[in-house]
Amino acid sequence: MDEINVSSFIKKWLASKNIEKLYINGRWEETKSKKRIKVKNPATNEVIAEVGSASKVDVEAAIYAARNAFDSGEWSKSSAYERSSLLNKVADKIEAHLNEFVEIETLNNGKTLKESKGDVEGAVATFRYYAAIIIGATGETLQVGEPFVSKVVREPIGVCGQIIPWNYPLLMAAWKLAPALAAGNTCILKPSEVTPLTSIRLFEILETLSLPPGVINLVNGTGNNAGQPLVESNEVDKIAFTGGTETGKKIMQHSVGNLKKVSLELGGKSANVIFADADYETALDHATFAIFNNSGEVCSAGSRLLVQKSIYEQFVKDLIVATKKIKVGNGFKQGSQMGPLVNEQQLKKVKAYIDIGKQEATLACGGNQLIGEGYEKGNFIEPTIFIDVDPRARIAQEEIFGPVLTVIPFETEAEAIKIANDSPYGLAAGIFTDDGSKAERVSTALRVGVTWINTYEQNLIEGPWGGYKESGIGRELGTYGLEEYMEVKQMINTLKVEPTNWFTHENE
Ligand code: NDP
Repeated sequence: MDEINVSSFIKKWLASKNIEKLYINGRWEETKSKKRIKVKNPATNEVIAEVGSASKVDVEAAIYAARNAFDSGEWSKSSAYERSSLLNKVADKIEAHLNEFVEIETLNNGKTLKESKGDVEGAVATFRYYAAIIIGATGETLQVGEPFVSKVVREPIGVCGQIIPWNYPLLMAAWKLAPALAAGNTCILKPSEVTPLTSIRLFEILETLSLPPGVINLVNGTGNNAGQPLVESNEVDKIAFTGGTETGKKIMQHSVGNLKKVSLELGGKSANVIFADADYETALDHATFAIFNNSGEVCSAGSRLLVQKSIYEQFVKDLIVATKKIKVGNGFKQGSQMGPLVNEQQLKKVKAYIDIGKQEATLACGGNQLIGEGYEKGNFIEPTIFIDVDPRARIAQEEIFGPVLTVIPFETEAEAIKIANDSPYGLAAGIFTDDGSKAERVSTALRVGVTWINTYEQNLIEGPWGGYKESGIGRELGTYGLEEYMEVKQMINTLKVEPTNWFTHENE
């Protein structure tokens, strides 16, 4: 561990008892298996903590607790005002402990302190947003004609299993818990085995807010031992998952037992399209931000950069200059702009794709693991650019999930649309142009869930987030994200209480 930069509070906390436990039914519990998972600092690959690894028995205990808590109605039938007030308290508490969360996230994920701070602030904003909108949530009355009256109400779904990845550990926990709790569900959160620490701290904070036992549960552990039992259980009413597309497909298959609701936020290979008439400096700046922020470990990373041929040569030159200036280093170090990859496995994967890229296209910058002073044992890699990439090449089709950019030239608007849509994924896209009509045309033609015009990676809590095609099912954030945690019930009444006489009258 970086002794200089981690506060003494965090050092003590990492050795505290809750780290090894699971939070089930309002208590910190030992895992039945007594197994541990080693958690590492990606900047040094040193073990920083050993967390409990849930077995199927532990997960079943969490499901039982969540089921009872839901059925008791204490939370699920509480007023929107009570739930809103609780969510605001969660936001207040995270804010009060902001620096702790920032440090833990950088220590566990590797991202820079600036990136971690953005995530923690995003988590606070998510709890506040759902606290606000649940107060205003209403049903509807339909004009169906007398004698009938029809009203539509929304109810919580029930027990929600929430499985999250390692790239935005706290933020993803907030995206899952805030709308689910706002709607009155009970939750079982399964963080990535690689990055469980901010979730543990979050649950310590949630514990102080006196929620009824069983409303929130935390099961740290592996995908197979902790994730899969959640997905397979007939007592779980909904699974919300963020992670890789292959895992998402398995989750759909394993959840058919009780036809539970499934929402999936999966991978991407998003196109960022730069037209010659774009504001050049803005487009250049966003092109680097789109792929290299969070070390490229972003589902919506602008990993396919499409540049119009008339500016291609100069744009690529300037892109390389800008990329070479990015300072890679320990996320705790002042001045670091890009941290290490999350673990050795991810580093290996990214290096393998760089090797593939060398066969398929021209390596224009980067491509190497960083070793030597400051990088000794961590998972550091240079921001990497491949140019003149064939749109059908593997590095242009497959999600690398690292700081590797593929640059593809195009001539016309129609060609740009064709290339951008030629992907199994459909999460997001960027469009840079000074021509408003062209921006609208391209934005409309792209088969993706989110488009950004003259900007990139603006993640607005108020709007829907999710993908077309193999990038997922369902939406998070906004009112759309709340709907994913609610059942819709139509209640029909009549103003005229009378028999139908269907079987007692002669047929006409
Ligand atoms: P996964 O999709 O494997 O993991 C995401 C979450 O699902 C983790 O909590 C994981 O557990 C859990 N999980 C894994 N298998 C199962 C299962 N059978 N049933 C239930 N839950 C399961 O992503 P990885 O972390 O392994 O990364 C693999 C690739 O996925 C990355 O290289 C990247 O391409 C992509 N990815 C995409 C993300 C996105 O936001 N779109 C986010 C993260 C990864 P655990 O990790 O604890 O084993």
